[in-house]
Amino acid sequence: MNFKHALTIAVDFDGTIVEDAYPEIGKPQVFAFETLKRLQDQGHRLILWTYRCGDRLDEAVNFCKEKGIVFYAVNKSFPEEEDDTNRSPKILADLFIDDRNLGGFPGWAHVYQTLTNETPQIPKKKKGFLGLFK
Ligand SMILES: [Mg+2]
Repeated sequence: MNFKHALTIAVDFDGTIVEDAYPEIGKPQVFAFETLKRLQDQGHRLILWTYRCGDRLDEAVNFCKEKGIVFYAVNKSFPEEEDDTNRSPKILADLFIDDRNLGGFPGWAHVYQTLTNETPQIPKKKKGFLGLFK
C-alpha cells in the first residue's frame, strides 16, 4: 500500500499485540512491537483501542511503554479528548488492527508488509536439539 499521509491506526491489545490471556498480559505476538515501532517511525499515529479499562488498561499501557511503544491516544481519538456521552464512542481511525477482524488476524508480518511495502526480517528461533533432525 502507498500512503501519502500519516495514518491513524487503532490497535487492539489482547489477542493482537499480545497473546490473549486476559485479564493477565499474554506474551507479545511475534513481530508485533517491531511492526508498531516501524509504523511510528514512519509517522503513523497509533491508538490503543482495547476493551480494557482501569487498572487492566494501565497495565497494558505500561507493558507497551516498557517495550518502547507510547500511544498517541488510548481508547479515544485524540489525547485531549474528554468523555462525552453526546459523542459516539467509536474512535476516528484510518485503520483498525484487531484479532476480531473478519477472516481473523493475518499476523504482524502481514501487517508490516502491507503497511511498509517491505518484507519483514523476522529472526528465526534457535533450533533445539530436536530441531537438528527436521
Ligand atoms: Mg482482541
